Amino acid sequence: MNAFAFEAHLPRVVFGAGALQQLAAEIERLGAKRALVLSTPEQADSARRVAELLGERSAGIFARAVMHVPVEVAREARDEARRVGADCAVAIGGGSTTGLGKAIALDSGLPIIAIPTTYAGSEMTPIYGLTEAGVKKTGRDARVLPRTVIYDPELTLTLPVGLSMTSGLNAIAHAAEALYAHDGNPIVSLMAEEGIRALAAALPVLHQAPQDLNARGDALYGAWLCGAVLGHVSMGLHHKLCHTLGGSFDLPHAEVHTVVLPHALVYNAAAAPEAMFRIARALNADDAARALQHLARRLGAPTALREIGMPRDGLDRAADLAASAPYPNPRPLEREALRALLQRAFDGDPPAA
Ligand code: NAD
Repeated sequence: MNAFAFEAHLPRVVFGAGALQQLAAEIERLGAKRALVLSTPEQADSARRVAELLGERSAGIFARAVMHVPVEVAREARDEARRVGADCAVAIGGGSTTGLGKAIALDSGLPIIAIPTTYAGSEMTPIYGLTEAGVKKTGRDARVLPRTVIYDPELTLTLPVGLSMTSGLNAIAHAAEALYAHDGNPIVSLMAEEGIRALAAALPVLHQAPQDLNARGDALYGAWLCGAVLGHVSMGLHHKLCHTLGGSFDLPHAEVHTVVLPHALVYNAAAAPEAMFRIARALNADDAARALQHLARRLGAPTALREIGMPRDGLDRAADLAASAPYPNPRPLEREALRALLQRAFDGDPPAA
């Protein structure tokens, strides 16, 4: 076994069907009294439900979270929290809403309680993103890690089937890259493999029966593990590629992850055989990359970048960008090989080295 250092930074987790009912007690546990409830406009009803549940512990609702956390929205939310005298914030929703909570915490130090309703995993990480003048910057800061996370599978029953599938595959991507991270460790690897296993088992059930609460619980459990590993180790080629494609070509987050993952894994396969073995084992398959593309197809998820809005004439620029910023990755970044990878991902070809 390789030498390693490990320090856990994890929020308190309350998990279970109906766990939302424990929100008031969790706010009290933090020593807080008045929560500003955050959501996207699409989930304003959920925010209202939370505010009703909190009664006088609700300081109000800010239902204007949007993708990629524009700084203007973050400022408005922070000002609203101050105006209504909130001493904590509750973020109910996916990564976009959690991201807004993190932006408030970064500036104000306000404690955040996250109630995730997708499988993106942001609630488990100290990573934040902020978009200013069209440029998204990300960073790490311990202040943005939510203090408490309530995982209630009942709240994921409304997540549309398509987004459930791609969001779950997005979570699997965190765990897959954690298995070959240069700063990985045995505990992270255990969590990553179990996260992939739980999601890969639950997603096909949810594809057929989206209201299956047990499978919703299993998927959320897998998402928790995948989010936790994302918060502890560095991501490689796959996440950098998706960041580039999402940021430069405005492609939808979970779908990009879904399409790119098999191709990024096959790029790294020869340089990370142990990780590939463990991903394949978690998928109950022989070949990790092919099994993931097969799973995406079976789940009706996209498998080609051209299906999700990538312009063909953007592939060269994407390859330049992906090869230009150096970061740790099992296999060195070779511009021509990355260009070929992108072409295969664009066309939806089977993953090949
Ligand atoms: P999202 O939060 O943008 O949600 C997509 C849409 O689905 C929104 O309209 C949302 O309101 C709706 N929705 C969410 N849950 C629902 C439910 N249960 N029922 C009905 N509708 C629901 O999507 P996402 O994929 O969760 O998050 C993507 C964002 O999160 C990206 O900006 C990404 O960069 C960020 N992210 C950050 C981290 C991190 O560690 N900082 C990790 C993962 C993702």
